[in-house]
Amino acid sequence: KVTESIKKNEEVSLWCIFTKVDKNTNLKYKFETFSKSILPKSSKPIILNVITDNASRPYAEEVLADIQKKEKFHNVVFHDVSQLAEKLKQLVSIMSPHFSSRPGTYYSDALFFLSLGLHHIISPIDDHGGKAIMMDIDVKVMGDIAELWSEFDSFKPTELFGLGPELSPVYRHVFHTFRSSHPDTRIGEPISEQGYPGVNSGVILLNLDGMRKSKLYAQFIGDNPPQAEDELRSKVEEGQDRIVSVEELVKKYSFRGHLGDQDFYTLLGAEHPEILHILPCTWNRQLCTWWGDKAGYGDVFDRYFKCEGKIKVYHGNCNTPFPEE
Ligand code: UDP
Ligand code: MN
Repeated sequence: KVTESIKKNEEVSLWCIFTKVDKNTNLKYKFETFSKSILPKSSKPIILNVITDNASRPYAEEVLADIQKKEKFHNVVFHDVSQLAEKLKQLVSIMSPHFSSRPGTYYSDALFFLSLGLHHIISPIDDHGGKAIMMDIDVKVMGDIAELWSEFDSFKPTELFGLGPELSPVYRHVFHTFRSSHPDTRIGEPISEQGYPGVNSGVILLNLDGMRKSKLYAQFIGDNPPQAEDELRSKVEEGQDRIVSVEELVKKYSFRGHLGDQDFYTLLGAEHPEILHILPCTWNRQLCTWWGDKAGYGDVFDRYFKCEGKIKVYHGNCNTPFPEE
């Protein structure tokens, strides 16, 4: 039994979303690049969990069948998005009014916020030491995922989510009102200058155990408070005012976004930085330069985009191609 559980911790639990291929054929090639990039550099077995829909699943199966002929994921598990969406209803109704561009069909919004409820989707008996990594499929893995997995070892008890910094001035823009009235704030400043530029959700380390136990997090996502003692409580004394709801958060920071879970992580980290574990930018090297070309931000863009060191994960966000090898 014991050796079995140790062995379980040795596998990396990797999650991704692959849906709506019928509306976006490029996605199929992105998924192929993503899934083929993982194993050659990994020093640990990987369980790949693919959240998908009926139209997209056959494509994923085709790509993965090819990989399973040679390098092999330890296991591949498919999850049907419509079944998972049901469990996220409450969370989505809290988040989408503030962080969704067109709060639309229930199903597409659930996808947008899925990472925030993964601790309810994954059963605790099957959660690989209470940990999971979630990645966008528009990424190309250049480093060893096992090394990213070991980043969990340096999580402090209060840290629930590990994300890399946002490498564009998008939150400089979104926090404009707050920044005008707080001229000395780090919020919206570049990471290369020790600022807090917000985070990017292309790569997320999820401390599932911590998410389940945290009273503070339960309050934010509208869950019943867990029985376990909240380790975060020590930070702020009982009775002292602290922000525990999305409504209060968006009000305090005059925040209106449209980037889904990433907006919430960014805002949560602005108010409760002890919850976030900021990953080195090399684990989510975003490539989108849209904000650099946009009037008003061209002059500051490079300060945000800067990321030094050996790149472990390229993120081809806003459909940006990967650099040639
Ligand atoms: N995604 C999907 N189907 C879609 C659009 C997005 O499955 O039609 C998933 C996919 O995993 C993708 C992630 O949602 O990587 C986030 O979208 P995207 O990477 O295109 O956003 P960006 O990083 O450019 O902001
Ligand atoms: Mn992406």
